[in-house]
Order: sequence, then structure tokens, then C-alpha cells
Amino acid sequence: MSKMLKILEIGNPVLRQKSTAIANITDPELDGTIADLMATCDAANGVGIAAPQVASSVRLFIVASRPSPRYPHAPTMAPTAMINPQIVDRSGELVSGWEGCLSVPGLRGSVLRDRAIEVKYLTRHGELVHQELTDFVARIFQHELDHLDGILFPDRVSNSTDLITEAEYMKIVFD
Ligand code: ZN
Repeated sequence: MSKMLKILEIGNPVLRQKSTAIANITDPELDGTIADLMATCDAANGVGIAAPQVASSVRLFIVASRPSPRYPHAPTMAPTAMINPQIVDRSGELVSGWEGCLSVPGLRGSVLRDRAIEVKYLTRHGELVHQELTDFVARIFQHELDHLDGILFPDRVSNSTDLITEAEYMKIVFD
């Protein structure tokens, strides 16, 4: 049975730690952690969640892009657990986009990210995946990878005027 986990909020020191790589992919506890993360992400209407957000300082996150009230144009994909994820190449083409975070409630920020990235990660079954991600999914990956290094999206806004409330953000999206 998967369970909803408490999501840590900005200010909690765990969110600022550098997470450690998962050494034992066959650890039976890992499946439970992944199921709990997926359930927590789903219940919170998130498009991604990283293990440190639920106080587990390991290199694991879920990418679960789908349209939601906050991201009406997000593509739909099966929620995917990515273990020991890495960026191996970047397009170098930076695009700005609005981001939020389950650990930074009520705020949105405009953040520059690479439009396309080449990544690798291990699946929950220990298979090495090497793929190219673009646009919104590439943005989620970069945001979640930051969590594993103790970085939150407000650290990435180039100007503090690019930080706005969720209510103001909704006006922009639905204008
Ligand atoms: Zn986040």
C-alpha cells in the first residue's frame, strides 16, 4: 500500500542538502519509496517530485507530466521514477518558463532552462535509460535534478521581479 508523505517546505534544511546516490537498486524498500512518492505527487497534483521533498536525501525523483490547472498545456506521460539521474548534454538553447514547486507553496517563478537535454538514469528495475528530453519534460527534469543538489527554483530566477504569487500567475496563464 502506498501512502501520502508529508512534503517539506522551503526553510527545511533537508531541502538544502546534496543527496546521495542510490547504491543498491535491489533494496526492497526502494519500491515502497517510489510508490509513496508517486502517490504523494499524484495527490498534490504535481508534475514531478524529488525524494528530498519527502525527507529522503537520495538521488531519486518522479517525472509525471500531465495537464493540470497549474500547467494546462503539459504533455501527458506515464509517471516515471528516475534513479541516479544525470544530464549528459545540454542544447545550450535557454528558454524561460514559469515554475512552481510543491515545497514552495503559493509562488511561481520564471526560470531559464535548457530547452533540450540528453539524460541518463536507472529505472526501478535497474535498466539504464539514455534519452533526449525537450520542452516541458526537460524543464521538469532540470527542476527535479536541482532538488537533489539542494537547489530550489527561487534560486534560479534571474530577477526577483520574476517571482510572483500563484494567483497572479493564474491571471497570466488564462489571459
Ligand atoms: Zn520542486
